[in-house]
Amino acid sequence: MAGILFIISAPSGSGKSTLVSELRKQVSGVEFAISWTTRPPRGSEENGREYNFTSREEFEQMLEAGVFLEHAEVFGNLYGTARNSLDDARSAGHDLLLDIDVQGAAQVRAKMPEAVSIFVMPPNPKVLRTRLRNRSRAEGVVNEEEVYRRLNEASKEIENYREYGYILVNDILDRAVAQLEAIVLAERFYRNGEVIAYRSRRVLEVAAACLQSNSQERLRPVLEAFGVLRSTGQQQLDFGQDTDDDNDADDDPDRGDEKENSDED
Ligand code: ADP
Ligand code: 5GP
Repeated sequence: MAGILFIISAPSGSGKSTLVSELRKQVSGVEFAISWTTRPPRGSEENGREYNFTSREEFEQMLEAGVFLEHAEVFGNLYGTARNSLDDARSAGHDLLLDIDVQGAAQVRAKMPEAVSIFVMPPNPKVLRTRLRNRSRAEGVVNEEEVYRRLNEASKEIENYREYGYILVNDILDRAVAQLEAIVLAERFYRNGEVIAYRSRRVLEVAAACLQSNSQERLRPVLEAFGVLRSTGQQQLDFGQDTDDDNDADDDPDRGDEKENSDED
């Protein structure tokens, strides 16, 4: 494709959708592939905006018909990217962003090794738990079972971080958004020779610092907190105490830093 294919993956609740929506406000020319899913809409989600919602039966028919570039089962639901998302972006000469899980990302990388892949990590399990609960609360109901299911999956997903070219730790939202923006602009600069205005050097430095190959020291505490660096033994992760919802909001260590993030989705 003329544009660049970006893949972004993260454990659920890391803030990937928040980052992507901020990126889209700040950088033009990036299209977002609207995936198909068999899961029901959540909160204020609308059919055709966040996802194309469908039944399992229809999804399987589409799969059979070869509609999908990639697909995967995540938390008991099917998700897939339609090939036409790629065709549409290609004919418009736009970049395309795929927000897909680690299984889907592996399928796309195998078919399109030139894709730029970005993995987003939450800073630690306790913050992830708080974000999942806050999001659940904002949607009107805290589904503890679902929150713990997603928490338990997080470490397994993080184990795949080495497959990704860039790693973001979504601790302070503004910083993570600036890093994501820098990655997009730097890739446009290197691949298309696109000029990045006067801040170009700084943008290239920020993007380079997010390369996985430059991130070992920065990632160590995150990987340790998720038990990913341990080689043996049962992992006992610290998700924090089970408190009621109000107390839980107070123990979010990053809350004070992130007034901009009061629009929990
Ligand atoms: P994902 O798309 O990765 O599942 P979301 O974007 O839905 O995650 O974010 C999960 C929750 O965390 C949301 O309530 C969101 O507002 C909040 N959130 C996202 N990024 C941050 C951040 N940097 N600091 C605090 N809360 C955040
Ligand atoms: P959620 O249900 O929280 O929106 O998403 C759950 C997971 O499914 C996330 O990791 C998200 O990236 C992933 N996902 C969303 N769309 C797709 C898709 O089209 N393909 C794949 N493989 N995963 C997807």
